[in-house]
Amino acid sequence: MPNDTSLDPSDWEAFHNDAHGLLDAAIDQMKTAREGRVWTPLPDEMKSSLTSPIPNKPAATNEIADRLSALLPYGVGNTHPRFFGWVHGSGNPGGVMADIVAAAMNANLGGRDHGAIYVERQVIDWARQMMGFPEGSSGLITSGTSMGTIVALKVARDKRLNFASRSRGVNGAGLVGYTSEQAHSCIARAFDMLGLGSDALRKIPVNSDFRMDLSVLKTRVKADRAAGLTPFAVIGTAGSVNVGAIDDLSAIADIAAAENLWFHVDGAFGATGILSDHVRPMLKGMERADSLAFDFHKWLHVNYAAGCVLVRDSAAHLRTFSERPEYLTGAERGLAAGAPWPVDYGPELSRGFIALKIWAHLLEHGTEKLGCSITENCKQARLLASLIDKHPELILLAPVNLNIVCFSFGHSDARNEEIVLQLQEKGLAVPSTTTINGQLAIRVNITNHRTTDADMQFLIDQVISIGVGLSA
Ligand SMILES: *Cc1c(COP(=O)(O)O)cnc(C)c1O
Repeated sequence: MPNDTSLDPSDWEAFHNDAHGLLDAAIDQMKTAREGRVWTPLPDEMKSSLTSPIPNKPAATNEIADRLSALLPYGVGNTHPRFFGWVHGSGNPGGVMADIVAAAMNANLGGRDHGAIYVERQVIDWARQMMGFPEGSSGLITSGTSMGTIVALKVARDKRLNFASRSRGVNGAGLVGYTSEQAHSCIARAFDMLGLGSDALRKIPVNSDFRMDLSVLKTRVKADRAAGLTPFAVIGTAGSVNVGAIDDLSAIADIAAAENLWFHVDGAFGATGILSDHVRPMLKGMERADSLAFDFHKWLHVNYAAGCVLVRDSAAHLRTFSERPEYLTGAERGLAAGAPWPVDYGPELSRGFIALKIWAHLLEHGTEKLGCSITENCKQARLLASLIDKHPELILLAPVNLNIVCFSFGHSDARNEEIVLQLQEKGLAVPSTTTINGQLAIRVNITNHRTTDADMQFLIDQVISIGVGLSA
């Protein structure tokens, strides 16, 4: 007999039935991902049901199953083939299977010697192989690129300060780093969180192709050095959020080597383009990085959240984070064996089994198919650009090199903003907006394995129809 305070179901049979029903509902939701609206706002009655006080009594599992399945239609919309906002992956049904097992195992991946740790190690090694990093590099599965960036830049910071910064901080070290004006905000946040201050991140202007202007980079490094500061890192972008630009990573690697800078690459979505025959040549030089942060949840479609950081100098990575108190001491044998542990490579102790859904995803699809899906998205971006070219009211605002298309209907910012809002609110499509050379752009990001060419034509037809309506 279970004791009275156990949280296990009192009726396992009923639990089985409720859980199976919920699984069917979840799979049906994914099966019908192409149908219906893209984004559906949460209805008011559900919003108010989500402000109820904390429950102090139990509820039946069938009631919980109902509450859970009622939420299914109200995601971001990124499972739909016409979700083009920001950079969101579209997920896949296989992730449901992996998450079932992860929940049932309830493994804590801070460390120790158990099955889940071996899966994470294999995933990190697969990531290393995928990205062309040398054997012996280290890595960590993270919730995303923001966390991966913090981990990587802490290694860069501590290595430059001979790891004294771990106990003494960075007071007065004058560390400065460089990235392009088009870089993601997570880099400045990492500088902030690492005590360097976001001002210590120099934003280098870009050329007309939105890539970092490397002559300005060199000049800034020299000027900072002359001013008594310590340039320590340069961060290249492999796939910028605004337009999908990829910096000249080989040239940045050369400058980093000449100037003794840590070379980090933010490859959040673009780095996984290495699996695509179309994108791979543009990423040349990425394999020379000292560290690389990227996501599995964007262009590889592992269900949220799943990112990774790789570090070439595994000894420096370990020295940056390892420091275990007596209650976490490792052992030669038993469950406390298996050093080093993930906690020795990052800030978190208790960690979930993110690696499992990545592992299952790579096993299920293989790298070739994932790469073809990326190539297809780039083709769709070019198709969209050609449809824009054909229409006199539509203006392409940035070159299309990858999977992102920025355009406008005429020149009115207010009208373009309204077009995007109406597309979203009518549930037709979800592009987002950005600013390109001072003008508001309708921004279409295609990291979506469900998108078809017909979705491009549909989008253009709707933009024109709404735009013409607003102009009248
Ligand atoms: C999404 C993105 C990030 C942040 O990654 P998260 O996984 O959301 O933390 C950083 N850089 C670029 C270029 C991105 O697209």
